[in-house]
Amino acid sequence: MKISVLGTGVTGQAVMGYCKRHGLELVSPDGADWVVASPGIPPSQFPNLPNIISEIDFAWLMREASGRHWYPIAVTGTNGKSTVTAMISHLLSCPIGGNFGVPLIEFVDHESDCIAVELSSYQLEITRFFQPMVSVWTNLTPDHLERHHTMADYASAKANLLRCAPHVPLIYGDGYPDMVPFIESHLGPSIAVSESHDLVKDIAAQAASAQLDGLGKGVIGTHNHINAAMAILAVSQLHSHTLNGAIQDIMHYHALPHRMEWVASTRGVSIYNDSKSTNPDSTLVALHSFSGRVILLLGGKDKGLPLDEFILTLLRAACICVCYGEIAPRIRSLVPPSHPSFVFFDTLPQCVDYAFNIATHGDTVLLSPACSSFDQFKDFIDRGDQFKAYVRSKI
Ligand code: ADP
Repeated sequence: MKISVLGTGVTGQAVMGYCKRHGLELVSPDGADWVVASPGIPPSQFPNLPNIISEIDFAWLMREASGRHWYPIAVTGTNGKSTVTAMISHLLSCPIGGNFGVPLIEFVDHESDCIAVELSSYQLEITRFFQPMVSVWTNLTPDHLERHHTMADYASAKANLLRCAPHVPLIYGDGYPDMVPFIESHLGPSIAVSESHDLVKDIAAQAASAQLDGLGKGVIGTHNHINAAMAILAVSQLHSHTLNGAIQDIMHYHALPHRMEWVASTRGVSIYNDSKSTNPDSTLVALHSFSGRVILLLGGKDKGLPLDEFILTLLRAACICVCYGEIAPRIRSLVPPSHPSFVFFDTLPQCVDYAFNIATHGDTVLLSPACSSFDQFKDFIDRGDQFKAYVRSKI
């Protein structure tokens, strides 16, 4: 078989490595049986290639050809993908592939039963063969519009997960209007999850009491109770976990770094790093996870997402917004002049200095930037790591 690979990043390299290990000839797109597109390459760059496939589909076709029988539990959504995927992996002790670190192609020869697979809209945009055993679609709020242009197109890219496997169980976040037409046409059983779901309430109650014993720190905030419920429901479609057993297991789950990560407490002020928040919705859920006053550090690269409703919500919330970076002038233009709950700086360390000066006992200082990091940092990990180091240097 002759394979052409578009893209030379982590995914492209992994596909090329697989081809070399398995004696598949690497050729230019003209002579290829399959042209494998990395997720970073938008379909507009290859409009006339009939045999183009995503890396996810390529991995799936190779799995079929290899006779392996591992099955995927797939997770997509705007926010919470990595968390739900990591929770599934925690519950099943299974590996994680896809958007979360290791490309799926690396797992083709894997011996394990199950793989928790995180899928981004970029990975799903042209995916059509992949067959998960269970699908999870966490939510859909504005993001990645520089690639997808409209919410309808963004939703449609995500919905390829459902088109691939229309009959399998679907666990989904309730209350996201752009998802509704796709959920309604899903043919398999579907379970809606929201704050009012009984399992979410049980998890919230157990997390509150587990925290007294030093557990449950991975499930702070209603969004994480919802994430945990989605992971448990996904796993219980296939495994004989009792729900109670799974709730107990999830209390031992450790939050991933840079998602609502506790950094330090000093003078009665708690400091959290939520650097992975790169869109307004993830910042709002982080903000609403705390009672008391929040000093919110936000800003970074402007992705051109709509901000009006976000700013209105922040104006009504009990928080001080300390803004920095490329997006700061746009935020300033949307806020009434000299509004007392918005201040503006150039850099994140300046924001931290300001937050430390004004914070009083009971406040939370929260880095949840709502923007990508690329104006001043290498990525969200660099941003979170630098934030934590700077905070610790000041204590
Ligand atoms: P993703 O992989 O989709 O980016 P993560 O689990 O890495 O998701 O979380 C990214 C950001 O979204 C973090 O700021 C996190 O606090 C926030 N988040 C996590 N789960 C949810 C959710 N269910 N709804 C909204 N925001 C969430």
